Amino acid sequence: MISRREFVGGTAVSMAMMPTVGLASTNQEPVAAVNGAVFNRRPLADQPFAPLPLGAVRAKGWLATQLETMAQGLTGQLDEYYSLVGPRNAWLGGDGDAWERGPYWLDGLVPLAHILDDKRLKDKAQPWIEFALRSQQVSGYFGPPDDRGSGKDENGIQRANSADWWPRMVMLKVLQQHHEATRDQRVLDFMSRYFAYQQRQLPAQPLDHWTKWARHRGGENTASALWLYNRTGEPSLLELARTLVSQTSDWTAGFAAEQPPTAHGVNVAMGVKQPALAYLLDGRSEHIEAIRHGLMFLERDHGQVTGMFSGDEPLHGTNPIQGTELCTVVEFMFSLEILGQITGDVTVLDRLERIAYNALSAQTTDDYMARQYFQQPNQVMISRDVEQYAQQHGGTSQLVGLLDGYPCCTVNMHQGWPKFVHSMWAASADGGLAVLSYGPSSARATIGGVEVEAEQQTSYPFSDEIRIVLRMERPTSFPLHLRIPGWAEGATLKVNGQHELPASSGQIVRLERLWRTGDTVEVIFPAKIRRSTWHKQLTSLERGPLVFALPVGEEWRKIGERSGIDTSEIFPTTPWNYALEPDADVTLARSETVSDCPWIGANAPLSLSTTGRKIPGWDRYHQTHGSLPFSPVATEAPAETLRLIPYGCTLLRMSEFPIAKV
Ligand SMILES: [Zn+2]
Repeated sequence: MISRREFVGGTAVSMAMMPTVGLASTNQEPVAAVNGAVFNRRPLADQPFAPLPLGAVRAKGWLATQLETMAQGLTGQLDEYYSLVGPRNAWLGGDGDAWERGPYWLDGLVPLAHILDDKRLKDKAQPWIEFALRSQQVSGYFGPPDDRGSGKDENGIQRANSADWWPRMVMLKVLQQHHEATRDQRVLDFMSRYFAYQQRQLPAQPLDHWTKWARHRGGENTASALWLYNRTGEPSLLELARTLVSQTSDWTAGFAAEQPPTAHGVNVAMGVKQPALAYLLDGRSEHIEAIRHGLMFLERDHGQVTGMFSGDEPLHGTNPIQGTELCTVVEFMFSLEILGQITGDVTVLDRLERIAYNALSAQTTDDYMARQYFQQPNQVMISRDVEQYAQQHGGTSQLVGLLDGYPCCTVNMHQGWPKFVHSMWAASADGGLAVLSYGPSSARATIGGVEVEAEQQTSYPFSDEIRIVLRMERPTSFPLHLRIPGWAEGATLKVNGQHELPASSGQIVRLERLWRTGDTVEVIFPAKIRRSTWHKQLTSLERGPLVFALPVGEEWRKIGERSGIDTSEIFPTTPWNYALEPDADVTLARSETVSDCPWIGANAPLSLSTTGRKIPGWDRYHQTHGSLPFSPVATEAPAETLRLIPYGCTLLRMSEFPIAKV
């Protein structure tokens, strides 16, 4: 995380691989063995996991502190710092901003409010929800009227295209989350009327009638139509979903051919989920194959050690000085959360954790009051004088501030952590619970009529052990699914301290038994230190889901201010131009305790020590590191001990290194 000040800051056990197809309902009713979770109705394809209702998953430990920091930071008060989402916003009935910004903020504020059960945040979100519901016209149309673009041009306010399908796609996601948390029946009726309107209008006003964004991002709209179909069973929604798929850019063909319909990084991150939605409709495996191929292609041609692909803003190759936009980080995570539930694919879920615990934690300030528009894996300076991005935004793309680069991330970033926390647990189609991502958190569900609470007691990803404690009113039998990451070779499970069981890495294991209150399942991952290879044979050090980086000393220089929030450049105060010794030992050190604010450099709970050598003459060029020396690189410089900390704890850093020739 970006640091700007020092902080001190639990019978018989059966195991099986997850079946590729979950137990399906045989009629039109969704499976409801886990109350509140809604699975697919026929004829939609089956999926192994479905989300629990919003609010059923809670953050604990350091993750709770992370969410509370957001509530006290920009997520909980963005309207007070950014006037475009203030009272004049057209999504509150005002004469101001009428496009995506208001809905974007709500898409993070609403899940945060319900996960924290925070009345202040709920009260802040409610007027937006009431306006959206109240604004619906007899036709079914809702939101700001379609004349907002006329005649007024005012510094940066987005009023044009106020009738665009795209911002409505975001507001539909907001309303779905509101319904899942509150059961507000108005939402279902409202969405039914809107989708009937959409089906009537789309032939004459297709998704790209106003902007191209809606065409590339039509997967969001399709997901909302399927969400409502699973709740109402209204057959015309399937027809609408097919219309939406036909009008959305063809991401299946694009990924299969390694030619995405657009190279815009945020669109690509959102497009990754679209073939999976087409698969739910037609059951054709080519869609899932296309996603696998697309993820492979993105990693091969644009991949960086954080688990992200570059996009500044278009896809921009594997060089670790190319940038990744914060919107791309949070949208890719949301796509992977949906993909993980549809496919049960462990590689997808491993990728999700890698992004959350590296890229996401690195791109916002410790107090969640500022952010970077672009981050670099090798970020040796933060400056106005950058040259290497495809979109420079007047040199502001990399600065730490409120709105620098482009404002979208300031409103869209809020969905990252809350949706990730919510996706850590899921209902399984065979009537049980699943742990899809690890971290301190708990889940409540009614399973077969019995109230069950399950908690992950852990400081993961800073510890290798997760203790899952179950509590329930009376003994009950259900399956518990546990993801074993691909990197976790030699993982073991213990139930109530006994029955030590091996668990194969890269699979989801299923434990089914009669559970009693107080039962514990211990999951133990023998995380090993790994070297991975990236752009031009650059090497990174990893352990479990964490990437490690050499922190570079920081000198912050304020160059401006907006709403009292500094805009800063950051200069390096310590050397960064190192090559790693090829065969040097790498040793792990742990702090005695894990801080509630673990992403602050001074609090880093883990570190790796190894040996490196400086590369004389490798200097900065246009305020980033200069052209990369080919690896291995000859150097006569003396060997030095380097201490690397988790990537998410750093701002200026090196995470992809050349190798020294010795
Ligand atoms: Zn953005």
